[in-house]
Amino acid sequence: MKKKGFILLLVMILSISALAACGSDSAGGKKEDKTLIVATDNSFVPFEYSDKDSGEMKGFDIDLMKAIAKEAGLKIKFKPMKFDGIVPGLKSKRWDMGIAGMSITDERKKSIDFSDPYYESGLIIGVQADNTDIKGSEDLAGKKVSTKTGTTSQDYLKNKIPEAKSVAFPEINQAYQELSAGRVDATLYDMPNLAYYIKTKAKGKIKMVGKKMTAESYGIGFPKGSDLVGKVNKALKTIRDNGTYDKIYKKWFGEKPE
Ligand code: GLN
Repeated sequence: MKKKGFILLLVMILSISALAACGSDSAGGKKEDKTLIVATDNSFVPFEYSDKDSGEMKGFDIDLMKAIAKEAGLKIKFKPMKFDGIVPGLKSKRWDMGIAGMSITDERKKSIDFSDPYYESGLIIGVQADNTDIKGSEDLAGKKVSTKTGTTSQDYLKNKIPEAKSVAFPEINQAYQELSAGRVDATLYDMPNLAYYIKTKAKGKIKMVGKKMTAESYGIGFPKGSDLVGKVNKALKTIRDNGTYDKIYKKWFGEKPE
């Protein structure tokens, strides 16, 4: 009897310590072991989108972030969401990082930190292919222009072309649909996304006009003061130097950056 009682006690002690070990593992344990939440846009081709078959997030940003994480020894998990939820969630430290073709702006820098720039972008106007009266931003006065909520395009329309009637949608596809259906005259958005959209879905239906309107650089976002900024910048530099960045760039955009 005594022996049985002892064994029972031993088993209990062992299982409690095993549980405790599990607990400290999943509840953070050492900081480097923590799985970091990387917020991303649920649809911004070809930077991030959910793959139709697997449901997995794919794209340039996704590959880049995975390469950075591998280089820096960080465990990450993507959390796709509407674009306008990313900056507020970084500000309140709900996400550890955010990658979403997010332009580095002075306004955003007031509430979050950014990595070094990783992609040069800019805004461009899209119109129906047979449109002949809109050739640039100077022709947008009085016109209906669609774009996406919470983006630099929405700000641009508000601040630089207030004479245009801007309509913003949470998903850019809605903005493009409005353009295809002729319910708006133009769409203003990031050039690489519009170019990709035309190439894959709207050849001969939508065209780009005018020049790229602003130079914008994409950066990875962090809560203010995050110690991940330095680690990510270091890893970004390494993968730029060792050819990994170029490989990823080529996969999604065809040609190497100059
Ligand atoms: N580059 C734009 C911005 O930062 C749009 C990004 C996006 O829609 N994912 O506002």
